[in-house]
Amino acid sequence: MRHVMEILGIVMKSLVFGSKCKMYPVKPAKFFDATRGHVEIETDKCILCSLCAKKCPTDAITVERQNKIWKIDRMKCIACALCVDVCPKKCLKMANSYSPVGTSRVNEEVFNIAPPAKSPPPAQSKY
Ligand code: SF4
Ligand code: SF4
Repeated sequence: MRHVMEILGIVMKSLVFGSKCKMYPVKPAKFFDATRGHVEIETDKCILCSLCAKKCPTDAITVERQNKIWKIDRMKCIACALCVDVCPKKCLKMANSYSPVGTSRVNEEVFNIAPPAKSPPPAQSKY
């Protein structure tokens, strides 16, 4: 009976003062400067060194050097930012927003790493 009264009290408070629940994703979540939302990669800077994958405590990152692929399993990522700290090229960052909601489970997000652009050879002089 005590629990019923407690629940009724919460319901009455919500009716009078409004619900404390956030209507995410109908209403967007609030992000703060320190929010560790999700890992983002700048693919043009990555050198496929695998340091991020080796340091990741949950094995969320996979680097396929041969296929020039960098993958992240967002369901495994705990947003610890270790990968960001160790990346020698500073191409990883913690974006302070969460991954967008979806209706199907995406196991891994796959990024193709383009080889670094080569500077054109110096023009040959005819003389
Ligand atoms: S933030 Fe942490 S858990 Fe997520 S991918 Fe980076 S190292 Fe792994
Ligand atoms: S540590 Fe940085 S440069 Fe190395 S594979 Fe990871 S993202 Fe790419």
